[in-house]
Amino acid sequence: MKERKFFISLQNRLALTYALFIGFALVLLTLIINVFTGVIFTTLIKGNIAGETGEIIWAMGEQYNPMSRSFDAAAIEAIGMHFVHEGYIITVEDESGGLVWDARACDMRECMTVIDEISGRMKGQFGMSGAMRKDRYPVRYADRTVGAVTIETYGPYFYSETEGKFLASINRLLIVAAIILTVTSFVISIVLSRAIARPVNKSAEAARQIAQAHSGSAVGEPLTIRIDDHYQTRELAELARSINSLAACLEEAEHRQKQLTSDIAHELRTPLTCLQGDIEAMIDGVYKPDREHLESCHEEVIRLAGLVKDLHTLTSLEWENLALNKTEFDLADLLRITAEQFKAAVFEKGIEIHLRLIESPVVADYDRLKQVFINLLSNAVKYTDTGAVTVTVEKAANPGAAWEVSIADTGIGIPESDLPHVFERLYRTDKSRNRSTGGAGVGLAIAAAIVRAHGGTITAGSNGTEGSACSGSVFKVVL
Ligand code: ADP
Repeated sequence: MKERKFFISLQNRLALTYALFIGFALVLLTLIINVFTGVIFTTLIKGNIAGETGEIIWAMGEQYNPMSRSFDAAAIEAIGMHFVHEGYIITVEDESGGLVWDARACDMRECMTVIDEISGRMKGQFGMSGAMRKDRYPVRYADRTVGAVTIETYGPYFYSETEGKFLASINRLLIVAAIILTVTSFVISIVLSRAIARPVNKSAEAARQIAQAHSGSAVGEPLTIRIDDHYQTRELAELARSINSLAACLEEAEHRQKQLTSDIAHELRTPLTCLQGDIEAMIDGVYKPDREHLESCHEEVIRLAGLVKDLHTLTSLEWENLALNKTEFDLADLLRITAEQFKAAVFEKGIEIHLRLIESPVVADYDRLKQVFINLLSNAVKYTDTGAVTVTVEKAANPGAAWEVSIADTGIGIPESDLPHVFERLYRTDKSRNRSTGGAGVGLAIAAAIVRAHGGTITAGSNGTEGSACSGSVFKVVL
């Protein structure tokens, strides 16, 4: 793929889009208003001209004297000159076609001035080219044609001085409004695009800083970076929240990684120190390298190997996608077989294992679930010195699950404050106590990871009445 060299910023792109859109809308709006006002105004003007024409014909007809069968020439001149100033060049004839009055003959100069003024206004100011047109109308008196009026005007229509001024001021108003709207929309487009681009830029900057921090190139603890997610726009708030939760996840992962490293270092240090001490003592001749000391060293090595193996299992369960090899089997069978493995240990400790099982078919990963129950049973046996371990299977109360397996013991129990943490990696309720029992605090974390991969839940609780000194523990696995 060819690399793109030119990038336009989101803010500029938004501003440009808004400006183009608003500009286009304004041009369209102005055009529409212009066309509409033009059409309305022209109709109005044509109506005015028709009205004036009607008035001229009526006024001329009024000057007819039926007795003398002639027109009052003086009145016709007064009326005619009035209309000349309005842009109407009039000629009046009597019924025999004889000229009664002609505006041009009366005052040619005034007529030409009026015609020049109107054609200059129409062509120069409004860009409308027209020409003088003549229309002849009969003058009637009592249903009789008594003469004719010829009206010469600028056609197809013309604006009077007042109408011209009015139209020009409307056009000016439209231009001013368009300029004001353009400037306002330009400012609004900049403000809007900035309002949208700013949170996106902030998110991008935060993501860049988080990436930098995660890759270790930044100083301090920049993974604590969080951005403001109180935006009105849903998508922007969502983006900010996603970045924040990404940062929180990375922070948590980094914290877990640091914690794991320090926990592992701590777990390895003690057996290694013991080994080192034993071996140095043998080298210095303090101990003889006899069977007893070598076996003690061997035990430490085995414990170390076990811890490394457990940690490896846990890491692969937690970090890699746990692929389950699911088959159909009876949970009761699995629990029976698993419990068998603890027969010798139970016998040695003088305790018992009770099984309360019912037929319980499941589709699950047999080997992984076996690992879960081995871990739970080995803990139960390990931390119980008197009494019994009881394994029960019953129908789950939760409608989303099928079976509930509980492994209860009458052992030392788990303090209330430790219950929420027992499934955490390398967590032990009593570090010194567990050192002697050999646990590193990984077994329950492994069990929890497997149960979670099956979509189930695992919980720890007290087995017994509240307040009793030795309550024992109960672990419940719901599948
Ligand atoms: P460990 O290998 O130390 O047993 P686990 O992860 O299996 O590690 O258990 C974590 C801690 O939970 C143990 O160290 C122990 O303190 C406590 N625990 C687990 N099961 C029991 C139990 N049945 N009775 C009492 N304490 C228990």
